[in-house]
Amino acid sequence: DIRPLVAGNWKMNGTRASLDQIRAIAHGVSGPLSRKVDALVCPPSTLLYVATTLTVDTRLLIGAQDCHQKARTGAHTGDISAEMIRDCFGTHVIVGHSERRKEHRENNKVVSTKARAAYDQGLTAIVCIGETRSEHASGRTMDVLHRQLFESMPDDATGENTIIAYEPIWAIGTGQTPGPEQVADVHAAMRRDLIERFGDAGERFRLLYGGSVKPGNAKELMSVPHVNGALIGGASLKAADFLSIYHAYE
Ligand code: 13P
Repeated sequence: DIRPLVAGNWKMNGTRASLDQIRAIAHGVSGPLSRKVDALVCPPSTLLYVATTLTVDTRLLIGAQDCHQKARTGAHTGDISAEMIRDCFGTHVIVGHSERRKEHRENNKVVSTKARAAYDQGLTAIVCIGETRSEHASGRTMDVLHRQLFESMPDDATGENTIIAYEPIWAIGTGQTPGPEQVADVHAAMRRDLIERFGDAGERFRLLYGGSVKPGNAKELMSVPHVNGALIGGASLKAADFLSIYHAYE
């Protein structure tokens, strides 16, 4: 049985004033449901250290949204390393989000190298994959995902150091989501791919769904087979919405 994870990606949102939301989320996820469900927030890196400091005695995990391919140090202006994330007590790092792939031209190979940098520092990589609207419309979803999954995951990925997030690009920030049957088909296909590559260990990877997850659709999406949690963008910014999605597991 896979323990679900409800994760928030704050993207380029959040100032010190948003720390109240982190506090409220941490409080809300530290009750009895924390025996069954994990919770994670990935604030912008400016808030990473203060966020982990605020949440030390809670069940809320804190992660980062990206790391450099090099695990430790170097001349890379503006980047942060996996070592820096670990040093700030972050436990997870998102790699290969579609916004990074698009705006920073990150390809599967770069994403895989970033995942390895995360492993090097004992972080769990959340590897994101997802098809564009036109790939979806032309029926290429499965082919695209198959390739992204294969190329974005290092050979030494395990269910402990890697989480996969399926985020159809056309569902991000649009209010549109695939139907539960479509999500079920994709997640079952990802599971088959992982088992084919990693053997029985392929059963252990958490497979998150992301893209317009809201309080109103969380229960339906989270009950789809092989959906082991959510990666939430917009709705993770408000504690009330995040917690309502988290409580979909009750
Ligand atoms: P939204 O939940 O805002 O659609 O964003 C999803 C996402 O990209 C999470 O990484």
